[in-house]
Amino acid sequence: MSDCIFCKIIQGDIPCNKVYEDEHVLAFHDIAPKADTHILVIPKQHIVNLSATTEDEWPIVTKVLQSINKVAAQENLEGFRVISNNGEKGGQEVFHMHWHVLAGSKLTGF
Ligand code: AMP
Ligand code: ZN
Repeated sequence: MSDCIFCKIIQGDIPCNKVYEDEHVLAFHDIAPKADTHILVIPKQHIVNLSATTEDEWPIVTKVLQSINKVAAQENLEGFRVISNNGEKGGQEVFHMHWHVLAGSKLTGF
């Protein structure tokens, strides 16, 4: 999508601090971290959010979730929290599906 900031990151038009990449998934550090470790894991395919996911897109979502484990292992995260804000009223600001992976000492109870 031409006006999507995360699509621009995937295309290399906007830089990111990359953590992990494969055929379907990109992970990079959040520009405004809310925890010691704050990584965003996104599908390379432009999917808006969970609510908008179509039947044929679910395998991609599964790949994104599987990659969260790879990211956590690679970054030696002993524990982590995963959040995906869904829709404007769910706090979503970037409308390209992303999973926040949060870890570290600043992580408090939810
Ligand atoms: P959300 O509110 O769930 O849509 O989260 C969007 C997240 O994207 C926020 O945590 C932002 O800090 C993050 N973000 C926005 N632009 C960038 C960027 N260029 N590089 C890295 N993270 C970004
Ligand atoms: Zn996009």
